[in-house]
Parts: sequence; structure tokens; C-alpha cells
Amino acid sequence: MKFTDLDLNADILDALQDLGYESPTPIQQQAIPPALEGRDVLGTAQTGTGKTAAFVLPIIELLSREPIDTQRPIRALILTPTRELAIQIDESIRDYGKYVDVKRALIFGGVGQQPQVDALRRGSEIVVATPGRLLDLMQQGHVDLRDLTWFVLDEADRMLDMGFINDVRKVIAKLPRERQTMFFSATMPFEVLRLSDDLLVDPVRVSVAPVSSTAEKIAQKAYFVDTNAKRDLLAHVLKSDDDIKSVLVFSRTKHGADRISKDLERRGIPALAIHGNKSQNARQAALTSFKKGKTRVLVATDIAARGIDIDELTHVINMDIPDVAETYVHRIGRTGRAGASGVAYSFIDREEYGNWQAVLKLINVEVPAEREHPFPSVLSTPDSFGMVAKAAAGGGGPRRPSRPQGRRR
Ligand code: AMP
Repeated sequence: MKFTDLDLNADILDALQDLGYESPTPIQQQAIPPALEGRDVLGTAQTGTGKTAAFVLPIIELLSREPIDTQRPIRALILTPTRELAIQIDESIRDYGKYVDVKRALIFGGVGQQPQVDALRRGSEIVVATPGRLLDLMQQGHVDLRDLTWFVLDEADRMLDMGFINDVRKVIAKLPRERQTMFFSATMPFEVLRLSDDLLVDPVRVSVAPVSSTAEKIAQKAYFVDTNAKRDLLAHVLKSDDDIKSVLVFSRTKHGADRISKDLERRGIPALAIHGNKSQNARQAALTSFKKGKTRVLVATDIAARGIDIDELTHVINMDIPDVAETYVHRIGRTGRAGASGVAYSFIDREEYGNWQAVLKLINVEVPAEREHPFPSVLSTPDSFGMVAKAAAGGGGPRRPSRPQGRRR
């Protein structure tokens, strides 16, 4: 299928051509036609599948079919959990709507509200917002949603994880009942399904690759290493592997992210960190420097990295193994986007071995262990940790969680 097979106008097709998009991704192929017919959409898709265009393109198309209202009332609201995602969606609307006369506003917390209030006052047909600040502005009377026609709830499961569901429900309560709703989530836990049930009317269900299968296209490697040698290993890998052009290094904690980036700097490897304790400006500056290729290494926490969209990201390195296996998939999904191949390395210490097994069980693909590195775990003797690691990573056929026979505590 080509974009020209979809019912999109020439201005949008030109913009897509400028971006070098050749054909719609599976989620776009499934979602765009029914959305253009005005149907509600329930999409199971995660970041990296092209889901943003799946909801943005129909909105721009449908909006451009209507005469321009000079007041520019809010016609579409897109709710997303993080500032970074909000910024990226706004940029996508700018890019896809390059040749269409549409005004946008971007609303998120952590920065002064006045410019956002001004943008709303001037009039904006498409508003991209995080729930907390939007609710704030709504309660102050700055947001008029009476003309709203399209509502998108993006990353609903993240909204739930991050504790935003109540804010989301409060926003929804103020929306006109007559509207078209598109609902996207990477996973559909019970609470999310219940929300979708309340929100959608006879939706078209579209879905792409369940979380576990994203892992198949990413080359993964496991490094078994003691906790206190992880930073040495990181520096070694970054210095010795020229294929690592731009790498996102994940750290579980904000302090960890700072420590890692400072340690790399000390060793002469330029690195920046982004996490929730940094100001919005500092985060944005780090992200811009990284995206432009000025900084090779970006160290991030899970929340800060969520949804970060960096096309040229070649590698992801996990300095630790998250407690929730799905988080691992979200992390490595930052690389290998939109069909590109990516590489993910994971540094696993003894304490994290249980988490690593849970990851292997979820992704159900083989992850070879890199044994030739200068900081092997002291436990990597043939009958202990290393062997167990090999057993868990190797073996054909459907994966069964292997028992850590030789594991010593
Ligand atoms: P998303 O899942 O919306 O975050 O999109 C992931 C990445 O894929 C973004 O960098 C988009 O610019 C890119 N993308 C989206 N749709 C297409 C397409 N049809 N062809 C090529 N790249 C795309």
C-alpha cells in the first residue's frame, strides 16, 4: 500500500514525501481509513510503530476538509503522558501539516503557563497536552473545548503507570459527547480496557506487533558483570566499539544517570544525562545536542526516555535490568525504529539475574552472552553464573525459563 491509496490530500502527501516516507506502516494502514470515515479507533501499538501519524494524519485531513474558522477554536485534543512525547507529537503535526493552514498549541507542566495561555487565546485548532497542566488551565478557564471534534488518548497504559488516570478522566468529563475518539496503548491492562470502554463508541480495533515481538528485530547481547565494574565496562564498550554512533544508556535512578554521565566525562567520553530532576530547558538542550549528533552518549531514566524519538539511535545500553520486564522492551525499542535495525546491550549483575530471566521469558528470543570482555563477573565460572547465563540465553525452540542451578547467593 502507498500513501496515495489513502484518502489524503495533496498537501499532506507532499509533506510526507518531504519526510521521505514511502509507504504507510501497518498501524497507519489499519487505522487511517476507518479514522477518515469518522470511526472511533482502539489501537494497540507502541512508540516506534508510526502510531503518531496514524492519528495525526486523519485529524489534519479531516480538519482541512472544513472551512477555516477565523476564531481558530480547539477542534482536536491529543493527550499524552510526558512532555517529551507532547513535543514530539507537536513536531509531527508541524511536519505533516507543513502545507496545511492549521494552528497548534502545546501544553505541558514544568514551565511557565503564560505562553501556553497566550497560544490558547490566539486560537489553536490542535492542542497537544499532558493531563496535569491541561487540567490546571481548564480549571482557570483558559480552555474552551466546546468545538472539539477529535480526541486522542495516547499511551493510555503509561497514563495509568504514571498515576494520571484520574486527571485524564477529569479532562474527558469536560469533552463534548459528540466527537471522534482515538485511543492508543501499548498494552491493554484491565483498567485501560475499562477506560476505553467508557470512551469509545463501536471502535475499530487495530493492533500491531505485541510488545514481545519488537525484540526480534533488535540484536541483543548480555554482559554478565559485577555491579561495581559496570561503569568500567561501559567505558570499555564505548571506547572499543566504533559502531556505536549514538547510544541511549538507561539507568534506573536519576542519581545513577548523573553518576554515569559524570563518570564518562571524567574518562574523556562526552555524555549528557536527562531525568526528572533536570529543568525542562536542560532536558531539551541535552536532547537537541544528542539528536544533532553533537553528543554520542545520552544517559536517561525510563520516564525521561519514554517515547524519545531519535531516528539515528544505533545502540541502547541497559546499565541495569528493570524490575518490570516490559520496561526492557520499551527501552530497547528506542533503537531499531520504523524498520531500522538496532543493537541493545545489557549489563547484568548477580542481583539482576532474576529480572533478566523474566525478560528472556517475555521476549522469547535468544540473547547471546558476550564472554570476551575484560570485566567478567567473578561468578562466571563454568558451573555457576556464566553457565546459567549461557543456558538461559542459548538453546533452541520455545523458551522455557531455565533454573539458576549454579546460582550462589
Ligand atoms: P511513532 O511510533 O509515531 O513514534 O513513529 C516512529 C518513527 O517512525 C518516527 O520517527 C516517525 O517519523 C517514523 N515514521 C512514522 N511513519 C512512517 C512511515 N510511514 N515511513 C517512515 N517512517 C515513518
